[in-house]
Amino acid sequence: MNVRTRFAPSPTGYLHVGGARTALFSWLYARKTGGKFILRIEDTDRERSTEASVNAILEGMEWLGLDYDEGPFYQTEQFDRYQEVIKQLLDSGDAYYCDCSKERLTALREQQMADKEKPRYDGCCRDKGLSAADNTVVRFKNPLDGDVIIDDLVKGRVVINNRELDDLIIERTDGTPTYNLTVVVDDWDMKMTHIIRGDDHLNNTPRQINILTALGAELPVYAHVPMILGDDGKRLSKRHGAVSVMQYKEDGYLPEALINYLVRLSWSHGDQEIFSREQMIEFFDAVDINTSASAFNTEKLQWLNQHYIKNKDPAVLADLMQQYITAAGYTSDDGPELTAVLKVFQERCSTLVELAQEIRFLYQDFTEYNAKQAKKQFKEASLPVLQSLQEQYASLQDWTAEAIHHVVENTVNTLEVGFGKVGQPLRLAVTGHGKSPSIDITLELLGKEKTLARLQQAIEFIKAKQAAGSRQ
Ligand code: GLU
Repeated sequence: MNVRTRFAPSPTGYLHVGGARTALFSWLYARKTGGKFILRIEDTDRERSTEASVNAILEGMEWLGLDYDEGPFYQTEQFDRYQEVIKQLLDSGDAYYCDCSKERLTALREQQMADKEKPRYDGCCRDKGLSAADNTVVRFKNPLDGDVIIDDLVKGRVVINNRELDDLIIERTDGTPTYNLTVVVDDWDMKMTHIIRGDDHLNNTPRQINILTALGAELPVYAHVPMILGDDGKRLSKRHGAVSVMQYKEDGYLPEALINYLVRLSWSHGDQEIFSREQMIEFFDAVDINTSASAFNTEKLQWLNQHYIKNKDPAVLADLMQQYITAAGYTSDDGPELTAVLKVFQERCSTLVELAQEIRFLYQDFTEYNAKQAKKQFKEASLPVLQSLQEQYASLQDWTAEAIHHVVENTVNTLEVGFGKVGQPLRLAVTGHGKSPSIDITLELLGKEKTLARLQQAIEFIKAKQAAGSRQ
């Protein structure tokens, strides 16, 4: 079978993680089977669809590397085709005109609710043989009985009796087609073999199957993927933090981390957590998709992100980091070579935003220290330590990690203090925040001139603190 899957977003907002995961599963299924993955933009809701949103979806898919083989196709370009199919259904007697007024339909619904019945159209115009008029809609003649059976790849067998469905509107009074009709026509025309989508669409599926059957179309296989929930068990929304895929980019996540996170969110392969793109394709099978909803866990995403940052080629990471460095308000032009810096720092952070903050001290001077750290490390006893270090570093010719380390050792020995009493104030003096990999490598990267200036600044800071203290 030539597998054909699709991602069919409605462009009414950004690409959110739920949509991205649906797209990922459709993409994986196509890649796994050597099939085709198609992108279809369902933009018939003209009031809510925007070009900005289309662009956001395309951008999100590109960032995640979900490449499509055909499309993007736009439903707004297919109106003639939808009209043609509606006419076909009218001609074959599978659809009919209905002129029921809004008032009648409202009264009907109210009555049904009062009788504790499921609100549904009662088929009033089904056999009237009405013709088209300004006030008519077209309804699909849903079969009156019998079951619709969906052998869903995720949910298993789902059976819906036709008595639970009604004759849905497929064309509005203004002549525009409705959602279920456009989806059916496109899935049919585009020869979709597998419809992988969120399970919020499960109640549309029997209706779509009935229309496809009326058209004599071959039925696709369905896979309805469970929802993503927030950590509080509610449906994932903005309340839970970032939900837009591009927001994750901005927050310093790597696409491979987000993809890996999303694939594991509702699918598993043994207890493996880390999947390369190739492995995902190799191991993926839709029947292994979990049947229940899964909760989004930011900590796990961070853990994966850290893994991918740590293992990224430093030169590639350096290119990626430019954006975050600029956003953090500095440049890496003046200072140690970024690739060399990242080699040392890349395993230390769980996002690129954090990484940009952590290495900032190598490129940008600062005048303030982390207050808590300063209180702890810049005590009176630190003054002779920093002064001694400054003196020795000033005369150090060979600015290498080894020689730098030697100076620290020497200070520990001559002043007879613990290693921490030297290393910690020194670290705070040069970084401002007190976090860095081993101090010798840090100083080597920072360079002699900057190290001396930072030591001088810290010495003055402690002296000023002392002066202020004695004045009190
Ligand atoms: N356009 C629909 C949505 O964004 C998806 C329709 C489908 O996958 O069949 O929810």
